[in-house]
Amino acid sequence: METDSIRSQFPILGQKVYGKPLVYFDNAATTQKPQSVIDTLCRYYQTLNSNIHRGAHYLAAEATEEYEQTRRAVQQFINARHSHEIVFTRGTTESINLVAASFGQRFLKEGDEVVVSAMEHHSNIVPWQLACERQGAKLRVIPFDDDGVLDLEALRGMLNEKTRIVAVNHVSNTLGTVNPIKEIVDIAHSHGIPVLVDGAQAISHFAVDVQELGCDFYCFSGHKMYGPMGVGVMYGREELLEQMPPYQGGGEMIKDVTFERTTYNELPFKFEAGTPAVGDVLGLHSAIKFMQQTGIENIARHEKELTEYATERLLQIDGLRIYGRAKEKTSVISFLVGNAHPYDVGTLLDKLGIAVRTGHHCTQPIMDRYGIPGTVRASFAVYNTREEVDVLISAIERIAPMLA
Ligand code: PMP
Repeated sequence: METDSIRSQFPILGQKVYGKPLVYFDNAATTQKPQSVIDTLCRYYQTLNSNIHRGAHYLAAEATEEYEQTRRAVQQFINARHSHEIVFTRGTTESINLVAASFGQRFLKEGDEVVVSAMEHHSNIVPWQLACERQGAKLRVIPFDDDGVLDLEALRGMLNEKTRIVAVNHVSNTLGTVNPIKEIVDIAHSHGIPVLVDGAQAISHFAVDVQELGCDFYCFSGHKMYGPMGVGVMYGREELLEQMPPYQGGGEMIKDVTFERTTYNELPFKFEAGTPAVGDVLGLHSAIKFMQQTGIENIARHEKELTEYATERLLQIDGLRIYGRAKEKTSVISFLVGNAHPYDVGTLLDKLGIAVRTGHHCTQPIMDRYGIPGTVRASFAVYNTREEVDVLISAIERIAPMLA
């Protein structure tokens, strides 16, 4: 894989900040977009813009066709059984809220339990807390060890006849841990309990096959996989989606409306109320094509090598500690340098042109587990290089004495 030819597809990467070449290591927050995705957004607004599914004219028919083509592309991308198991949302957060609200309303009752892990993003915690509050259910939490590995024995011990769902991330946005989803699904399914996977940090890094994983729901965001902001996906197994009530009411999601009684549209439209972000959905299709053309195996290999190289070099820096040392890990490195505050490290790195994230990364329970206020997080994408890692290392070596 030629990284130069990949980088040249991302116009933003050629920029300088503060006169320094931009080193973009904040990919877990959002990835940059290739020209093909930007072009699709322009093409949509220049030549196709119209509201889908209901217009009796050329533009509406074309836009609808491309929107539905994207649904089929997503289906193939994650190997879902049916295209109507793919629901477009605004992103992972909305996807999880949809499931928590709708599944919760249908299946959660007083005294029931929902299991999440201690390494979840807030968006896979709070929607379940809200659902539990509404239904009188209780949240239970799978712990993880010092390296950032989930305790599956604890999960086994936690499941019982009151457990209604297990919700875990595929990859932790703070620790980088790749969780053993197949094993978690096997454990949960042996009790007849469905599993939701937050795939926000997995989808851009390696191939995801929802049938092989066996999960019941899989949620992700377009903007973390080289696609536009404002679009995401909720995959759900047909049998469950059929039983779940609509999440939002409005246009598109109905068959017939009277003041006495409304009947709902079929899948997936039952869960897509209102006008969707059509241009962004089309942009997501271009992002999938970008990943396929680059080769998902190539992306995975490149990022694995880069993560290993960066880990090795970072650990040579005096006083630097990495949080998240799981064997199965990808593309995210959280660290602290001596007793420097992560925000100070991030601010100084920024002045040297290096974009990292600092803080709790919307995972406060992880920070509590380690007793730290936050970390500095460098996260990689397919366009990042070893030379950029070297820039980061020299920068940390330069600023560490200033912050000691
Ligand atoms: N889950 C994880 C693991 C994430 O990293 C993120 C984004 N930081 C989210 C959920 C939420 O994604 P979004 O903001 O795109 O809805």
